[in-house]
Amino acid sequence: MAARQCYACDRSYDEHRARCDSGEPLWVPLQTTATWPGSDEQTRRGRDPASSGIWRYEPLLPASRPPAGADLAPGATPLLRAAGLEPYAGARLWLKDEGRNPTGSFKDRGSAVGVAEALEAGADRVGTVSHGNMALSTAAHAATAGLECVVLVPDDIADARLRAIGRFDPQIVRVQGDYGRLYHDALALGAEHGIRFLNSDVPLRVAGQKTLAYELVDSSPDLDAVVLPVSSGGNASAVWKGLLEARASGRIDALPRLYLTQAAACDPIAAAFRARADRVEPATDVAETVAYSIANADPPSGTRALAAVRDTGGAIVSVGESAILEAQDRLARTAGVRAEPASATTLAGLRQLTAEGEIGADERVACVLTGRGYGDGGGVPVTERVERTDLEAAIALE
Ligand SMILES: *Cc1c(COP(=O)(O)O)cnc(C)c1O
Ligand SMILES: [Zn+2]
Repeated sequence: MAARQCYACDRSYDEHRARCDSGEPLWVPLQTTATWPGSDEQTRRGRDPASSGIWRYEPLLPASRPPAGADLAPGATPLLRAAGLEPYAGARLWLKDEGRNPTGSFKDRGSAVGVAEALEAGADRVGTVSHGNMALSTAAHAATAGLECVVLVPDDIADARLRAIGRFDPQIVRVQGDYGRLYHDALALGAEHGIRFLNSDVPLRVAGQKTLAYELVDSSPDLDAVVLPVSSGGNASAVWKGLLEARASGRIDALPRLYLTQAAACDPIAAAFRARADRVEPATDVAETVAYSIANADPPSGTRALAAVRDTGGAIVSVGESAILEAQDRLARTAGVRAEPASATTLAGLRQLTAEGEIGADERVACVLTGRGYGDGGGVPVTERVERTDLEAAIALE
């Protein structure tokens, strides 16, 4: 079997590479199985789904689980029923809480498979281009596997971020100049110097992150729709691929519709969807957004994300800043879930989609809460001070 394939033109390649000659991103050819992992037979063979995380799906992954102690076993996150939020959401609602992964986001799924493959291949260095969740995740997985890790961050990175990433002791390189171009620079330098760059949408990252779709169909095989925030388009590609593989393996009969959400402040993929365009063009007019994890003006897998949405019959919507913050508050106050603003765009987007009648009130919808965040975003809670002697009065319900 070829090592890499283009979803768009079907060209395949034997080498490790990230992009097709057509310019589109590559992925590992679809992997299917006659015996879906986690089925009774697999369970009888002694796999423990709870402790192995994504490795429950090892037969469908392009790398083997690393030896004990060299792996953080991400995945196996809960799909929470969120009945209390249904009046707000306008549909039957479940929350896939990816914040429960080892470093707080779904990126851990892709980092785990990327690092496992690097170990298997005898590579000694991995890397990534990120100043957020992907940097934390790649550095943590490299640390547990004993690999070197290089993280390319923008020059203006906030100190708190730098410290959080530095905790895992990667080589951090603060790069001046056009940060957007680094995606391509890193892939080229990595190929030359034997560094496995696990950028947002590379084939191995997509291969790990597709387990999110597997878990969704295993928890709830009759979902009508999945709502996912999109930035690079890597994860949307991964969920699409996972769904295609689950269908080809007979695990599901039909694909749920894939809905993607962006912050209106930076929404090149939603703009292409609105314009019924075939390709995503870089956004030229972008503003700051609270949804810092999904602000990508030139998404490397934007066009593939568009294809995923069209193939499944979904849509892409943009949401405003106040809608994002309100949804983030609702998630915390009604469902007890801490999600970063990027993740809250899913609930805000769902509310919009049900109001427009695009998603029906009786439909079963999973919002993917992609990350837990750094504890920032949203309003600052007001905390009252009381004297110890006034405690009883302070906690009394009126
Ligand atoms: C990376 C990230 C996204 C966007 O994923 P892409 O694969 O870049 O589209 C969404 N939410 C969170 C919390 C993230 O860290
Ligand atoms: Zn191609």
